[in-house]
Amino acid sequence: MRVYLFLCLSVISIIPLAIVYIVLMSSAGEIHVESRTSDMKSQALMLANQLAENNYLENPHDRTMTAVVRQAADMWGGRILVINDLYRVISDTYVSAEGRFNISELVMRGMAGQSPSHYDSAEQYIEFVQPIVIRESSEGQAAGSSGTADASDASTRVIGVLLVMVDAAPLEVPVSTLQEKTMLVLLIAVCIILPLNLIFSGLLTRPLKRLSRDIEKVAEGNLNGKAEGGAYAETRRIGDSFNQTLTRLQVLDQSRQDFVSNVSHELKTPITSIRVLADSLMGMGQAPVELYQEFMEDISAEIDRESKIIDDLLELVRLDKKAQALNIAQVNINEMMELILKRLRPIAQTRNIELLFESFRPITAEIDEVKFSLAITNLVENAIKYNKDAGWVKVSLNADYKYFYVKVSDSGCGIPEDALGHIFERFYRVDKARSRETGGTGLGLSITQSIVVLHHGAIRVYSKEGDGSTFVVRIPLTYIKEER
Ligand code: ADP
Repeated sequence: MRVYLFLCLSVISIIPLAIVYIVLMSSAGEIHVESRTSDMKSQALMLANQLAENNYLENPHDRTMTAVVRQAADMWGGRILVINDLYRVISDTYVSAEGRFNISELVMRGMAGQSPSHYDSAEQYIEFVQPIVIRESSEGQAAGSSGTADASDASTRVIGVLLVMVDAAPLEVPVSTLQEKTMLVLLIAVCIILPLNLIFSGLLTRPLKRLSRDIEKVAEGNLNGKAEGGAYAETRRIGDSFNQTLTRLQVLDQSRQDFVSNVSHELKTPITSIRVLADSLMGMGQAPVELYQEFMEDISAEIDRESKIIDDLLELVRLDKKAQALNIAQVNINEMMELILKRLRPIAQTRNIELLFESFRPITAEIDEVKFSLAITNLVENAIKYNKDAGWVKVSLNADYKYFYVKVSDSGCGIPEDALGHIFERFYRVDKARSRETGGTGLGLSITQSIVVLHHGAIRVYSKEGDGSTFVVRIPLTYIKEER
């Protein structure tokens, strides 16, 4: 990027200099020619007046005047033709054209009282015409007139013209000197501009360079790094966004590590129990059959527990595969709820817990019936598990135009305030011992939350320790396809 920036800055700064140089040089040449032409014209005017006063056109052999004309031609380094009003060349400083006629456009315009000029840059010569004018008095006497006169003026008359041709090559010399000097100044300017551009491009790209170096370090595996945004608001924004992403990555990495250690711990616990039970059995020698049976039942319970943890973990892994795992269909929610409660009623009855269901309206919604049943089953099972004997569990179903709501309330032990924020975490249990007693794995609410999120719904919990709990699930009636 620094190279591109340097090239851009160099082009941007050098192009205007080049344009200025070209314009300056071309106009310098023209200005020089114009000013020289105008000088010569004023001298030619004086010469024309002198010729008119001395009646040179009537008397072209006047030696004094011929010498004056020659002197002027030598002074300008050119050629002067004196042409009378019959377009005949009466005097030529190069002699060759004397006696000939000249009816060129310039001469004709000169006869009309104008003093046109022409610069031929290719052939490098200047050509101009100066009318020779006389003023006629009322008595009919003619006198030389100063200044260019209009032919239509009644008191003046063009009696001839001076046609001057001057070599313009010597004029180029001062222009080329100017050209050389300007070129030198430009070269010095470029020599200053280029290193400055190099320094500026370095300064301008420094924050980006620093940002990319920081990001590279993180990419190399240093997750504890940080990206500095530097001087620009844009790079600071990129740095902030990157740091936020990095923080989320760190949290994710930490939770992955926690999860792995939790999983290994949870899977090891039943195996340790089995090992202890088996070891004690082996150490007993001749123990009664009843004792063997009791130990074997304990071992079998631990195996069941291990198997339940593995099942729940597999369920979570399946849910992590996201929406593609969902089998969405129109489901009668009332019927589904009745079925779930029918299955759980025997469990509730063992502890004399009353299981109530109230529905405010018939509801059908687009859901994955199997997965959603599992989510609600987990909630109702928990409401039974963490309830007191002879307590109650109330499940209610309602809907508005957009969502349906399942509310599961119980008369159980409630959840302490500091635990409320953690109960949806994997393997989190408020009372480890009690949860183990009731066969809990600490994964039930994680599974429920994952299923609710997959349905683009939300789950909330309201609870007070010793005062029962209420879980509310809100699900859209129409399934919203994953937005990419
Ligand atoms: P578990 O398999 O242990 O029940 P869950 O993920 O289902 O795991 O629940 C996490 C923890 O939240 C439970 O261990 C329990 O302490 C608490 N909990 C869940 N539901 C209730 C409830 N209805 N009443 C009281 N505590 C509950």
